[in-house]
Amino acid sequence: MHLWPDTLAGRTLSLLIGMTLVLIIGSGWLLHDERRERFDERNRFQLLDRVVTLARLLGDADDEERLRIIERVAERGDEINLGDQPLVNTPPRHPLEHRISHDLRRRLHLTDKSSVWVSIEFDAHEKRLRDERYERHGPGGHPRGLDGISLSIRLWDGTWLNIHTDKFEGPPPWAGKTLQLLALLLILVILSGLFIARRMAHPMAQLADAANRFGLGQAQPPLDEKGPREVRNTIRAFNRMQERLQKHITDRSQMLAAVSHDLRTPITTLRLRAEYIEDTEMREKTLATLAEMETILSATLGFARDEAADEVARSTDLAALLASLVDDHTDLGGDVSYEGPDRSIFMCRPIALKRALNNLIDNALKYGETARVRLIESGEGVEIIIDDSGPGIPEENLEKVFTPFFRLEASRNRETGGTGLGLAVARTIVHAHGGQLRLSNRPEGGLRALIRLPK
Ligand code: ADP
Repeated sequence: MHLWPDTLAGRTLSLLIGMTLVLIIGSGWLLHDERRERFDERNRFQLLDRVVTLARLLGDADDEERLRIIERVAERGDEINLGDQPLVNTPPRHPLEHRISHDLRRRLHLTDKSSVWVSIEFDAHEKRLRDERYERHGPGGHPRGLDGISLSIRLWDGTWLNIHTDKFEGPPPWAGKTLQLLALLLILVILSGLFIARRMAHPMAQLADAANRFGLGQAQPPLDEKGPREVRNTIRAFNRMQERLQKHITDRSQMLAAVSHDLRTPITTLRLRAEYIEDTEMREKTLATLAEMETILSATLGFARDEAADEVARSTDLAALLASLVDDHTDLGGDVSYEGPDRSIFMCRPIALKRALNNLIDNALKYGETARVRLIESGEGVEIIIDDSGPGIPEENLEKVFTPFFRLEASRNRETGGTGLGLAVARTIVHAHGGQLRLSNRPEGGLRALIRLPK
């Protein structure tokens, strides 16, 4: 359905306009029917009145007078004549013909049934409608619409008065005033519909906006609970959910920070005790393990603290952020390059995002010797690609390496000094921005890390 509007406001409005139009057209049709009926009735009465008056006048007049009267009446358009033969000589068939015939006889005090003949010419379509009506309502139902009508009335001296009138014209078309009123009504409906639809849609749009921002990891004050009840309930549910989630995240981060922090003391104690181990090899190994544990703890603590810090999103020049990261690594002797726009403003949490990108560039240099960083802007957001020229990661481990503390056998042997948290942290941060982080092996060799961030 292409024409059906997409927005709540659009749909409500079209529904309102549609229903109003149906109402206007429907009632117009009903009114038209009634107008037509009344119009016909009035015309018939007028006609019969005229005929009765004419028959009485002619009955009292002599031949000369009759001619003059006929001439004058004929000027008004009806076909009229006096003759020896009736124009109509079939008995009435239709209930309406009966009724008119009876009416005329009564008013002209004619007792003989054969002194008045009436014939109505129904046009085929109208006749069918009318017959259906008679069937439904019986002869007592209102006859609608007269087409041409022919009457023959026998005057007292045996002369036939023959009259034929053409089809009556329908009632006049709708008056301009009615149309103006209807137009005004429609405008009123549209205006009030717009008002209602907007009031309904506005809080929903606000809610969607807030949910999006929350999805991008931006904590925000609770929304105003306004609008109709269902919308208010939804907003309230959203506010509660946001509050609970926020609290949940903070609690977790605080716990993680507390655990890593508190583990440091026992590790220090263990290290002191390890010094007393007499077997040199055993002592060195124990101290190395403890050192590794400390590295892991400080990495965890660093991450947990960042999370708990609740950094707010702000517009950031991503190009500048990447360039400074590249510079830092170049200064340390890394083979890093940047390709992309000089300026690219993006809403994000720069400290966290920098940490994620730093981990990826670090990995590229650690395991792949070179890092080629690219930034691509698209309609939906940005893409950051980090390619290296290392061995890549076996396909079956491309997802596993995101698991905290997971490290490939090769990197353990190479003493690269990592903790296995780098990728996990990077992905958490990218997800918190509503984005995606994927790894893939490049056909030409080396690993590609692809970050997609939505606007
Ligand atoms: P860390 O680098 O501290 O070991 P990460 O979570 O950053 O931890 O990475 C997990 C593992 O994924 C690494 O130990 C390494 O085996 C593998 N890995 C990460 N990046 C690359 C890369 N660019 N090339 C090859 N292997 C990689």
